[in-house]
Amino acid sequence: MAKTTHIAIVSSPGFGHIVPIIEFSKRLVKLHPNFQVTCIIPSLESSTESCKAYLKTLPSFIDFIFLPPVSIEQLSQGGYIGQLIQLNISHSLPSIHEVLKSLFSKVPLTALVVDVLALQALEFAKEFNALSYFYFPSSAMVLSLLLHMSKLDEEVSSAYKDLTEPIRLPGCVPFMGSDLPDPSHDRSSEFYKHFVEDTKAMVTTDGILINTFLEMESGAVRALEEFGNGKIRLYPVGPITQKGSSSEVDESDKCLKWLDKQPPSSVLYVSFGSGGTLSQNQINELASGLELSGQRFLWVLRAPSESVSAAYLEAANEDPLKFLPSGFLERTKEKGLVVPSWAPQVQVLSHNSVGGFLSHCGWNSTLESVQEGVPIITWPLFAEQRMNAVMLTDGLKVALRPKFNEDGIIEKEEIAKVVKCLMEGEEGKGMRERLRNLKDSAANALKHGSSTQTLSQLANHWENLTKV
Ligand code: UDP
Repeated sequence: MAKTTHIAIVSSPGFGHIVPIIEFSKRLVKLHPNFQVTCIIPSLESSTESCKAYLKTLPSFIDFIFLPPVSIEQLSQGGYIGQLIQLNISHSLPSIHEVLKSLFSKVPLTALVVDVLALQALEFAKEFNALSYFYFPSSAMVLSLLLHMSKLDEEVSSAYKDLTEPIRLPGCVPFMGSDLPDPSHDRSSEFYKHFVEDTKAMVTTDGILINTFLEMESGAVRALEEFGNGKIRLYPVGPITQKGSSSEVDESDKCLKWLDKQPPSSVLYVSFGSGGTLSQNQINELASGLELSGQRFLWVLRAPSESVSAAYLEAANEDPLKFLPSGFLERTKEKGLVVPSWAPQVQVLSHNSVGGFLSHCGWNSTLESVQEGVPIITWPLFAEQRMNAVMLTDGLKVALRPKFNEDGIIEKEEIAKVVKCLMEGEEGKGMRERLRNLKDSAANALKHGSSTQTLSQLANHWENLTKV
């Protein structure tokens, strides 16, 4: 009888990280049913409703192990979301080790695959004689930045945001220093120093699985394949996104029924990911801008916060609708629908009535929009989202990027202009055309194309190791 290939996967908390690695695990087992996959899931006591709902839909063909939750108070030294998540993983390391020991002391583990924010857990691979991989749930362009980070750190002496020339990475669209991910903006911080150190450790793994596909980022992918003379092995296996389930939250039906009544391609979907938030001032401007544009919209609204990622790890419980400008809902009731906190995004984007997406450019949202061929208005908030916005606008030319004013606000006139341009203008048409091709390439990559072949190669490699 053939031996079973055992793979252990470690996720990190946060909807945008849990979902892509679990969806990857599902895909691996579906394509290679003789694999035994165990997903180890660290969690937070304050887990969001979206995470809880998603975790209720897990399939039985994968073993899931939930670690004791860490309380948000234990993470209080953290600032950035990535930092909080890494602290959560640090606290969970003893339980991750415990689980690995209980499962793989007698049974051989072929590979340990961890989310990029759980890199610390890769230290256990050697002890279990397993290969080590990390799963990167973002773009090849951002991965390229991380792999070049220590060089950039050596070469640039000023603050990155003061650079007057764009940063050019092999095969990638040039971008400004101000578009770098959050931790890069305070170079004197301990977190920045750790960040640079972590990026050095990335090249020592046996490979990097990345949730992108060759046809979308061929320049960056090809350049990464040559990075450091073959020092890393890159496996683009995407686009891997959730299928979405309309039963997860009460508002789902309401959104889809409302969309059913709107004309084709007429609605702008407005959403800032699983936890992005705006200030009260910005909510007011966005409301006025949408109204001024005269376009139809479906807006997923959260209560305001001065922190852009306030709802990412912690459940919010205030009614967001009360923060809208007075009379807004009444004035726009023929044109718009505002739903609190959550919409069934995948179903919304695939709905015939949706013609545009105002997005914070989280990578999952980006891939979902590409898979559905929906052009984007970029509104990056945190993490690597500004780089995703650059790729979508300057690289793929499937998005428009409104300008923030000096106070970091996008004003209503700017919003109205960009929304009209995307929904009605010639530029929007060109973007839809380009997206048609990209959408087809995404589907092909997953059907029998590049990403499926890449995953099969890797799975065969793992299987061969199991035989010896
Ligand atoms: N999402 C959703 N409904 C919402 C908001 C978000 O289904 O109202 C899903 C979305 O489809 C995507 C994920 O949440 O799969 C957000 O991930 P992304 O990487 O875009 O952003 P993050 O939440 O990590 O900032």
